[in-house]
Amino acid sequence: MPVTVFFAAGPANWEEYRDPLNTAFAEAGLDVAMSDRADNPLSVDYIVFAPGGIIEDFGPYVNCKAVLNLWAGVERLVTNPTLTQPLARMVDWGLTEGMVEYVVGHVLRHHLGMDAHIHGQDGVWRNSVLPPLARERPVAMLGLGELGQASARALTALNFPVMGWSRSPKTIDSIECHSEEAGLKHVLSRAEIAVLLLPLTDETRDLINAERLAMMPKGAVIINPGRGPLIDDNALLAALDAGQIGHATLDVFRTEPLPADHPFWAHPKVTVTPHIAADTRPSSSSQVIAENIRRGEADEPFLHLVDRSRGY
Ligand code: NDP
Repeated sequence: MPVTVFFAAGPANWEEYRDPLNTAFAEAGLDVAMSDRADNPLSVDYIVFAPGGIIEDFGPYVNCKAVLNLWAGVERLVTNPTLTQPLARMVDWGLTEGMVEYVVGHVLRHHLGMDAHIHGQDGVWRNSVLPPLARERPVAMLGLGELGQASARALTALNFPVMGWSRSPKTIDSIECHSEEAGLKHVLSRAEIAVLLLPLTDETRDLINAERLAMMPKGAVIINPGRGPLIDDNALLAALDAGQIGHATLDVFRTEPLPADHPFWAHPKVTVTPHIAADTRPSSSSQVIAENIRRGEADEPFLHLVDRSRGY
C-alpha cells in the first residue's frame, strides 16, 4: 500500500511543490500517493501543511503520523487544540542560506554606512568619515537556533564580535553566549546592531519594548527577520524619532501585508522588506519532507519536531 500524503498547503503551493515532492519521494525510495484533497481523512498518513485555511481541524486525521509544516515558524499552529499529531517545522539548507545572506547583507549595509553614498551622489568628495572595522562593531543575535547560529557564524567569519542570546545557555565557538534577563540586558546594552531571529511565543511577544530599546547604545540598528510582534511598534517608532535607534530594517510585521498607511512605510529611518528574508525552497525542503516520511515509515524519530510546551 502506498503511503498517503495530504498536501494541505493551498493551490499555489501545490503547483510549486507537487513535482519536487514527488521527485524527493522517489529518490527516498518511498511509494507515496499524494493529493491536495483528503476525501477520506482516516486514510491520511502524513499532512504537508501551510497555514491558509485549508484545514483548521486536525481531529478527523486520527491515523496521521505527523504534520509536516512547510514553513519554519509555527506560531499559528502550536495553539491549535485539535492538532495532537507530532508536528515538525521546516529546517532546510535553502532557507538557512537565504537568511544568512539577508542578515549579512543588511548588517553590512548599516555597518558600512552605504546609504550615505548611495543617496549622496552630489559631487562633494567626503572622505573624512570611515566606518570602523567589523571587529569594532558589536552585533547581538537574539535567537541562536538554526537561523540565528548560521547568521552569527557568518558574521563572526567577517570578524564582527557577536553576542548571542537564547532561552537555554549555550557554548558556541567565537560567539559570546548569554541567556535569561540579565543576559539580554548585557547583550542589548553593548550591541550597535541587533538581529532578531526568535520565534513568536508568549515569552517573546513585545520583547523589544521601550525599556529594552532604551538599553541599547544611542543610534543602534535593529534588524528583524524573526516575527513582527517581537517588537512593540509604537515603542520602536518613538525610539527612532528620538534618535535612540538609528535605523530599523524590518521584514516581518504584526499585519502582513503591511498596510499602506502604516507609519513604517514613510518613516525615513525604517526599511521595509516584504517578508522575503528567507523562503522555503521547493527543491531543498522537499528532501526534508521526504526524509521525515521515510523516518516515520522506518519507526525512526522525526526531524525538527516542535515542542508545543515551549511554543517552538
Ligand atoms: P529555532 O527554533 O531553531 O531557534 C529559535 C531560537 O530562539 C533558539 O535559540 C531559542 O533558544 C531562542 N528562543 C526561543 N524562545 C526564547 C526565549 N523566550 N528567550 C530567549 N531565546 C529564545 O528557530 P529558527 O532559527 O529556525 O527560526 C527562528 C525564527 O525565524 C522562526 O521562528 C521564524 O519566526 C523566523 N523566520 C523568518 C523568516 C523570514 O523570511 N522572515 C523565514 C524563516 C524563519 P534555545 O536555543 O534555547 O531553544
